Amino acid sequence: MQRRTLIRNARVLACTGDAAERPVDGDILLDGDRIERVAAGRLDPAAVGGPADDVRVIDVRGATVLPGLGDAHTHISWPLDFVFDHAGVAASAPAPHALDVAAVVRTFLESGYTLIISASVLQPLDDVTARDAIERGLIPGPRIVPGNLLVTSPGAISDGTPMSVVAADAHELRDIVARQCEAGARAIKLFISGDGIVPEFPSDDVYMNDEMLTAAVDEAAKYGAFVTTHARGSASVAMAARTGVRLIHHACFLDDEAVRELEARRDDVWVCPGLHYLYAVVNGHANPWGMTPEKIELSGYRDELKAQVEGLRRLREAGIRIAAGGDFGHQWTRHGTYAAELERYVDLVGMTPAEAIHSATRELGPLAGLETGQVRAGYLADLLVVDGDPTEDVSILKDPARRRAVFKNGELAYVNPSVYA
Ligand SMILES: [Zn+2]
Repeated sequence: MQRRTLIRNARVLACTGDAAERPVDGDILLDGDRIERVAAGRLDPAAVGGPADDVRVIDVRGATVLPGLGDAHTHISWPLDFVFDHAGVAASAPAPHALDVAAVVRTFLESGYTLIISASVLQPLDDVTARDAIERGLIPGPRIVPGNLLVTSPGAISDGTPMSVVAADAHELRDIVARQCEAGARAIKLFISGDGIVPEFPSDDVYMNDEMLTAAVDEAAKYGAFVTTHARGSASVAMAARTGVRLIHHACFLDDEAVRELEARRDDVWVCPGLHYLYAVVNGHANPWGMTPEKIELSGYRDELKAQVEGLRRLREAGIRIAAGGDFGHQWTRHGTYAAELERYVDLVGMTPAEAIHSATRELGPLAGLETGQVRAGYLADLLVVDGDPTEDVSILKDPARRRAVFKNGELAYVNPSVYA
């Protein structure tokens, strides 16, 4: 394998952060696992230094090259044919389950996703085992910020199920966080609000308290890990923001206090909506799997979707960082359709396609503590090659036929077989 790769004739979408960004003509030189140079127009392979045959040239013939995408709310434990049977999967035989997980991480990579952040697993070591297998080259998959079982509190949602662990106070929670970190987790998921989909636990319910969250954040930091929360109601979002939680999932309802607390933490907090999930449920995509109109009404999700769209518009104006992520893996939000989340940011929230793409690229690298998410010298060479211009039509990122190749660590990690058909 040559050490350097020259990607020629690209339309480079660097992900600069400019909401009006468009791809520009360029070449990209990779050295090992990093991007060495990004040039406007053509780079002469003979002039890049070193013997010419030390450089592998890949002509992408005008395809768009952008950073590999990322998703900040993933459950790789949910098999490709998952239908809301969390407890069954949690109790299933480990060997076939591991193969299901392998199929899911491969699906992420082949969908252009090179970085995922866990929002908990159903068998404790799913994320860590998959990450290790990927790093050893045993199976294809993205970079994984691993999690572990979700953490809830007595009487709260998921208490008494095999898919969670329960903490009653700050002391117990600190202990659980330490044990999960020692087992390799780096994104610790806490349930601090209800979820209307289980009507006995409305989204406005708040679980845990400031003392518990502060202890969890402090303990996780000792291991270089961070805390993420399921927080749907305003009070839970405000609590997460003021106690130092790094990644707040859902944030469906936002009052002035919640927005104020988020603004105060502007530089080290991210909100991950899961907007497409709500949209799909409210629009009946889950009906064939028993999500009847009555159940949807009962969940309050219709109001929640409206509130979340308004909230996201507000966060966008306030400059709060939004990290794309979407709880994908249900049959109505199937694995492989991850970029539908970006479509919703464009058609419901009013983001430009470039902004939506930034939420899955340049916003995610710093959240994960990685130099990824930009096509920029020095950054890790995780790249996606697609036909067409996703800043014109973001939905092309969802189309498998448009995906030509995925680079990870400077190597071709996926090539669409149809490129040679
Ligand atoms: Zn989730």
